[in-house]
Amino acid sequence: MRILDKFNLNTIDRPYILVCSSNSQMLFAKELMDKAKIENQLIPTPKGFGGVCTTAIKFPEDHTQEVAGLTATYGLEIEGIYPMTSRYKYDLSTIEAKGLSDRLMEILSRISENAELDRDEIKYLLEIEDETEYKALLQAADIIRRECVGQHIELRAAIEFSNYCSKNCNYCGVRRDKKMTRYRMSEEDILGEVDLLNRIGIKTVILQSGEDSYYTAEKIIKIIKKIKGKYGMQITLSIGERNNNEFALFREAGVNNYLLKIETANRELFQQLHPDDDFELRVAQSRQIKDAGIRLGSGGMVGLPGQTIDHLVEDIIFQRDFGVHMIGFGPFLPAKGTPYEAMPPGDLRLSLKMIAVARIVCQHVFLPATTAIASLNPEAQALALMAGANTIMLVSTPKELRNNYQIYSNKNMVDLSFAIKSVQEAGRKLPKYLNFKYIEELGYKIPKELIE
Ligand code: SAH
Ligand code: SF4
Repeated sequence: MRILDKFNLNTIDRPYILVCSSNSQMLFAKELMDKAKIENQLIPTPKGFGGVCTTAIKFPEDHTQEVAGLTATYGLEIEGIYPMTSRYKYDLSTIEAKGLSDRLMEILSRISENAELDRDEIKYLLEIEDETEYKALLQAADIIRRECVGQHIELRAAIEFSNYCSKNCNYCGVRRDKKMTRYRMSEEDILGEVDLLNRIGIKTVILQSGEDSYYTAEKIIKIIKKIKGKYGMQITLSIGERNNNEFALFREAGVNNYLLKIETANRELFQQLHPDDDFELRVAQSRQIKDAGIRLGSGGMVGLPGQTIDHLVEDIIFQRDFGVHMIGFGPFLPAKGTPYEAMPPGDLRLSLKMIAVARIVCQHVFLPATTAIASLNPEAQALALMAGANTIMLVSTPKELRNNYQIYSNKNMVDLSFAIKSVQEAGRKLPKYLNFKYIEELGYKIPKELIE
């Protein structure tokens, strides 16, 4: 038995999906299904099943009558209940066939049919070395990206509010044993940063920190409620593992997303990287986040010491079968003062291939062009946007603190001008929700073609 089978990732045979007309209706539907003991899983709404609600509920065919009954009894507003067979076909005919192997042609044809790729197919894509095949892979990912999430970039901003951490992850530059200046931001300072973000029109703020028990659930909830109350922004938490009863409290307080990466879906490799962590617990926490009705952000690092292509294949399959909404794959980067400081960084091309394959396989999800890839090479953020990515996260930690949040060395402090440049190089659009007038008043130049 493969290790992941143990976690019942993809056990729903002949799946059906329920698509609701809003997020709150969807959460209500899930509650009803849980109460009725109907096996269910929240997943990103697959392409072709209506796009209003980003989350759909997957459940076994045997329960379709019961689910239809529940939605009718409780007057739920739904878009429909459908068999989860692929409805959507992709037109990949613009990809030049010349120079491509028969095997790749066959895989591309399965991608255009929206078939579920198997391990060998995913492995073939990740192992591509030939330049023509590499370009074809990126082009396929770019086509699917355009159809699933369009031309506009999603721009989010992260406030790294504490670099205290009780854990000693071998790769991380703020691990417990590292001697460094530690800081914690006050609620007031965090809200001050949020205010600046709100003025430029950012809609999602990411609150990130080491695993820092100083910020009790109570303190976190207070901050969340203030942000929600004053600005109504979407909130992503990225504060590591927590007591499992806290996720529901965070949801109630208004948290929309929780970023807890699996880092690697291979159990043995996970254990090598994480002296304080347990793989099963990380998977269980990821599940609890989803079950609390919070969208899960996951992903991992590419080029970790001891990582193989087969591990990366497992990573892709994990993200797909777990129904993750945001998938961050970026290169591993060595951090000074850590056990891995002398290890080579992850490879750029392999990182781009991971992004491309993640888009092809997971489709209707947020894929960031990560700060890590932009730190590996300043051109790489634009390249990632052209390989299937659609999201950029600004580093919005106060300037005087951010140098102490170097989870890897030589971190690129992606700011608005850097993001604008990447968006321009990739030929894409800035999100419409930004306050362009105010941004220009601040002195940033926004090329006209980025606004639409
Ligand atoms: N403590 C929280 C959040 C901070 S770490 C947590 O661990 O979830 C946020 C992310 O930084 C991690 O998920 C990891 O993927 C990334 N990261 C840490 N060290 C890194 C390194 N050396 N290279 C690349 N990414 C790294
Ligand atoms: Fe702490 Fe997160 Fe770094 Fe691990 S990855 S040491 S939990 S900040």
